[in-house]
Amino acid sequence: MKHGFVLFFALLLQTTVAQDYADVVIETKQITDEFYVLFGAGGNIGLYVGEEESLLIDAQFAPLSERILEAVDRLTNHRPDYLLNTHWHGDHTGGNGNFADEGMRIYAHEQVYERLSTDQFMKAFSREVPARPSNFWPRVTFGESMTLHIDGETILFFHHHDGHTDGDGLVLFVENNVIHMGDVFFEGKYPFVDLGSGGSVEGLVKTLDQVLFTINEETHIVPGHGKVVKKPELQAYRDMIADCHEIIGAMIEEGLDYESILTKDPLKKYNEQWGQGFIKPDRWVNTIYTDLTRE
Ligand SMILES: [Zn+2]
Repeated sequence: MKHGFVLFFALLLQTTVAQDYADVVIETKQITDEFYVLFGAGGNIGLYVGEEESLLIDAQFAPLSERILEAVDRLTNHRPDYLLNTHWHGDHTGGNGNFADEGMRIYAHEQVYERLSTDQFMKAFSREVPARPSNFWPRVTFGESMTLHIDGETILFFHHHDGHTDGDGLVLFVENNVIHMGDVFFEGKYPFVDLGSGGSVEGLVKTLDQVLFTINEETHIVPGHGKVVKKPELQAYRDMIADCHEIIGAMIEEGLDYESILTKDPLKKYNEQWGQGFIKPDRWVNTIYTDLTRE
C-alpha cells in the first residue's frame, strides 16, 4: 500500500522514474560553497555542509535512500545530523524512516507531524494515505518559525501562510543566501495547491510575496520541483498565479459557473508556457475555482 502510494505519486509528478526506481540516478549540483541540491525522483533535496555538521532538506522516496546517502558521502565525510521536511507529501518524506534510522533528527512544521502520524485522505487523488510508522514523524516541530545555528550558518525554517499545504516550511540559509522553497515553488509550471491538505491559492500568493520581499537579486532559489533559479523567475511565477486567481475570481463574480468558465479558456495566455507540467490548464482552473467557491 505504501509502495503503491509513492509510485502513484511519482507517476503523477511525472518524474522519470522506473517502476522500481532502478534507473534513478541521484545527480548533485553545487550551488554555493556549502550548499548542494540533489536531483533524483520526487522533490529536490537540499544539502548544507558545515565544518562539523550537515543538514538535509527532504527525503524523496524510500527506495532511493541508499543512493541519496552515497551521493551525500561523495560531498561530505559527515552524514547529515538533521533532516528538514518542507511538507508531508510522500515524494518529500518517503525516505524519512530510513534517514531517522541513520540517526538524523527530523524537523518540520507541526502540520507535517499531524499528517504523517494520522490517516489522511488526499482529495486531489481520491486516495487514502495511511499514517506512517513513527520513525517517519518529525521529532521537533514549529508553528511560525524556528532558527537553527549550525557551524556559523543562520538557518531560518519558517511558515508564512497555508499555500501548497497547511504545513509548508521554507528554509532560508542567510549567509549562503539560498532558499529552499519546497512545493510552494513549482519552477516554470502551474502550481499544485493541495486544497485537501489545507493549501490555498491566496495563501500561496501571500507566501510568495513574503519570500520576494525577504530575498535579494543574488539569492539562489531552490524549488520543490524544477531547476534552481533567481528572483525574476520567482516573480514571474508569483505574478502569473496572482493574475490567474484574479481572472477566475472576476468570472465567478460575473456569475459564471464552472463549465462556462472552462469553455472560455480563461488562462490561454499562460497555458503554453506554464501548463505543460504536473498541473495541466484545466486542473489549474479547477483548483482556483474550487478554492474560491468552497465554504
Ligand atoms: Zn508536495
